[in-house]
Amino acid sequence: MSSPPLFAADVMLGRTARWLRMLGFDTFYDNRAGDDALKKLCLEENRVLLTKDVALHKAMPAGGSRLVEAVYPRQQLEEIISVFHLEQFTLPPRCSLCNGELAAIEKELIRDLVPPYVFRTQSSFQRCQSCQKIYWQGTHLGKISKFFENIRKVSG
Ligand SMILES: [Zn+2]
Repeated sequence: MSSPPLFAADVMLGRTARWLRMLGFDTFYDNRAGDDALKKLCLEENRVLLTKDVALHKAMPAGGSRLVEAVYPRQQLEEIISVFHLEQFTLPPRCSLCNGELAAIEKELIRDLVPPYVFRTQSSFQRCQSCQKIYWQGTHLGKISKFFENIRKVSG
């Protein structure tokens, strides 16, 4: 099986970029990055630029970008999954904040880092290796992976 494309998302696609990360797709997003910086990064790191900006799309080499047509984040995500055939990949989630990799962490170690209710009711936790954010299934991870499962069923 081939490996999934690496992405970079422009400033218009922040929410969609966070969802792509939670589905495990390596997606650069920084709302302070200008067009030139994005373009340079994509060329250097062989990333596909996801953009709502026609001019920026045209400035990219052929195949190096996707002009996202859908207006709302959910539809944008569906469009990107469909165009790049992402439904074939099952990846561990990445950090929605920083695109870092997550690793399982023992429950006892995060007792003071999550709300008491969460500690009582959740059993497995993961921590971002870059920014240290803690994840559990009750966060958006659960919802977004369900959404992805439904898309898989339709297309599979
Ligand atoms: Zn992080």
